[in-house]
Amino acid sequence: MTLSPLGLPTDPAAWRHFVATRADEHLARAREVIATLKDGSAREVAATLGLWNDLDLALGNAGTAVAVLAEVHPDEAVRTLAEDRQQQVSRLGTERDLDRDLYDVMAAVPAGGLDAGSRRLLEHVLRDFRRAGVDRDEATRARLREINERTTVLGQDFARNIRDDVRSITIRPEQLAGLPQDYIDRHPAGDDGLVRITTDYPDTIPFRTFATDAAARRALMGEFANRAWPANDALLAELLDLRQEQADLLGYPDWAGYDAEVKMIGNGPAIATFVDRIAELADEPGRRDMQVLLARKRRDDPQASFLDSSDSAFYSELVRREQFDVDAQQVRRYFRFPDVRAGLLEVTGRLFGVDYRAAEGAPSWHEDVASYDVVRDGEVLGRIHLDLHPREGKFKHAAQFDLVPGVAGRQLPEGVLVCNFSDGLMEHDDVVTLFHEFGHLVHHVLGGAQRYARFSGVATEWDFVEAPSQLLEEWAWDADVLRSFARDETGEPIPADLVARMRTAEEFGKGVQMRTQMFYAALAYRLHRERPADRTALLRETQQRYDLFRHLEGTHFHASFGHLVEYASAYYTYAWSLVIAKDLFSAFDAHNLFDPAVAGRYRDTILAPGGSADAADLVADFLGRPYSFEAFGAWLARPAS
Ligand SMILES: [Zn+2]
Repeated sequence: MTLSPLGLPTDPAAWRHFVATRADEHLARAREVIATLKDGSAREVAATLGLWNDLDLALGNAGTAVAVLAEVHPDEAVRTLAEDRQQQVSRLGTERDLDRDLYDVMAAVPAGGLDAGSRRLLEHVLRDFRRAGVDRDEATRARLREINERTTVLGQDFARNIRDDVRSITIRPEQLAGLPQDYIDRHPAGDDGLVRITTDYPDTIPFRTFATDAAARRALMGEFANRAWPANDALLAELLDLRQEQADLLGYPDWAGYDAEVKMIGNGPAIATFVDRIAELADEPGRRDMQVLLARKRRDDPQASFLDSSDSAFYSELVRREQFDVDAQQVRRYFRFPDVRAGLLEVTGRLFGVDYRAAEGAPSWHEDVASYDVVRDGEVLGRIHLDLHPREGKFKHAAQFDLVPGVAGRQLPEGVLVCNFSDGLMEHDDVVTLFHEFGHLVHHVLGGAQRYARFSGVATEWDFVEAPSQLLEEWAWDADVLRSFARDETGEPIPADLVARMRTAEEFGKGVQMRTQMFYAALAYRLHRERPADRTALLRETQQRYDLFRHLEGTHFHASFGHLVEYASAYYTYAWSLVIAKDLFSAFDAHNLFDPAVAGRYRDTILAPGGSADAADLVADFLGRPYSFEAFGAWLARPAS
């Protein structure tokens, strides 16, 4: 049977209708399936699981397309309508998770005699129900609902306070020394002769990286680290208490234990062990690079005995520029967007053994979108949509969105890359980001031929999901790969020695950065575990223990630590995925990154199964052994030279 891609509207006026019907029809279908499951009929186990799969599929179809369109559609009315439908889908999802009668139907399914895939589905379904609290008494379920609603509001308030608390410093014009000319031009002095610099990223990031005036940097970073203080400190206290109460009601020792149960790491205390292990691996390489940074700072300030948070970006950048001779202006000449996009498709097509066939005439929400069918051995596996340039009202970051979840024999997976790159010259960082996000996209498509929607594509453990993307970044650092598409205006490919210097500069300071990452990871974990009355004291103590940069006195970073909302106690996941990505990469031959035997095995054992097996088992299957810290440790210890 040939499956067709999702039919998007060709008429610009038809999008509102499309959004409403896409969500409403599948929501209706989901309600119908729930009613059928609860109708009291005797059913074969396979029929019950099939209905459950229909339910997952209906909720997935109702939610995915509207979630993308809420972020990317150029018409605000369409975005608003899509947001409304998103809320309806999320409401039905919560209703399902706490539906006691539905739970009773699924809990009565006999697990004996099921094949492995069906047993896994049933286990996950029952686990999701139990984690929502469906098996608790009525009063407990009512309280859990209240907690959910309140934590959602607290999370939104926490994020909004960070967004809205834009602070600033005023400086004399000469304190702009070191900044690029276009930045200086955009910051003229006011009537008082002073220049205002705000804590918004476009102001702060260049300033902390380039401003040579240490006092001005410290003043700005002091304001930056105090965004949403003190308002968010109180919200955080309440949020931490509610999460603990939720864990108590569900029978877990603490929030971290509840959250970690469904991740690779498995339990709360393992987070502390992991953080300490990484901190130890990073200790020597971190202190080594820190000496280089301190020596450089002493040339400006002979008395300096340490660096603090306001020095980190400035001296890291300075050392990279002075000692590794990488000029970003020179580098970007080689990365013209059309060539990079073509190169990305060429490189990943070769690696994964697929072709990207331009979907001629396929409708989309904006003329910038390029759509391709992903084809392997003549068979269409799915469709991807690349929406890569900024425009008004569009999502501001870089991410992969599912457009359609794939189910074998029923519907093709479709995914969307949403980024904000220039359509002219790109920074190399942007090229790395593009490869990273594309890693999520191929995971979604190549893992999208599952029997059960529950396990389609990137539906794997959350602390593993970054590993395939971090792995694909390696191809964007390879000289031969880059030379295949990165050419300057005369057609000359990027010189291999320039790529070598870029890599060296990138590797400098990785131990220092990892210590800072472990500071964040430990802080997120300890806040949830200890819920201290004085959160600033915990912040200071944790920074002193893990970070190699000193705490900036009088600041309260935890109030603007936005990850505490979505990641909660699980900030460690970035480093965890990176440990695995480095281990996966160790199986590839650094001199032959396209070896079809390794790349094909990677595609088939890691990406294709999606979430249909535990990530640890997939990784062991690919590596022929359990994952280890060895490759990561070796990468961290290797000096940049
Ligand atoms: Zn990612």
